[in-house]
Amino acid sequence: MSTEHHDHDHATTFQPDEEDSLGFYAIAEMAVRELLCERGLMEAGELHQALEWYDRIGPGQGAAVVARAWTDTRFKEKLVNRPMEAMDEYGIAMGQVQLYVVENTAQLHNVVVCTLCSCYPRALLGIPPDWYKSRNYRARVVAEPRAVLAEFGTVIPDTKEVRVHDSTADLRYLVLPERPAGTQDWEVAALAGLVTRDTMIGVTVPSP
Ligand code: FE
Repeated sequence: MSTEHHDHDHATTFQPDEEDSLGFYAIAEMAVRELLCERGLMEAGELHQALEWYDRIGPGQGAAVVARAWTDTRFKEKLVNRPMEAMDEYGIAMGQVQLYVVENTAQLHNVVVCTLCSCYPRALLGIPPDWYKSRNYRARVVAEPRAVLAEFGTVIPDTKEVRVHDSTADLRYLVLPERPAGTQDWEVAALAGLVTRDTMIGVTVPSP
């Protein structure tokens, strides 16, 4: 069994999930975590510290990467075509996880989900929001992406294709949003301020 699905948020499941009962993965995670602590291989505090670290980084790394791509053609080409090299250049450790960067264009809008659980590019975005982990989002964004996006206030014109990307334990997606019109003269730091977590999941688009 892959451990990747179990080294993240399930560890924080101190409250029952939204269905008000623990699922297979939550129970499996608790069993493995308790065993690791019992055998002295890990201390309970270590998990908490790791989660705090993810909490602290937030989506800032992702925003910096996107703003750089908007202002540096060479870097953007690398980010889209050789994302792992781009991460190396930025000193962002992806571990065993393969990153894919999907670029929004005038013809294409990308949105990311993990239909199985909550896989997410944590090194870039921090801890995923609760709605990302919800069964509602996971099931519906695949079946009716335009309707789900509209609930986030994002209306994609019919002329534009919507593509949904399903993450896995080994494979994570980052959406590279379109740079908003009217920001030609903006500095990188100001541009990064437009790039929110949700724009990099693809449920919203940046606007000045
Ligand atoms: Fe997952």
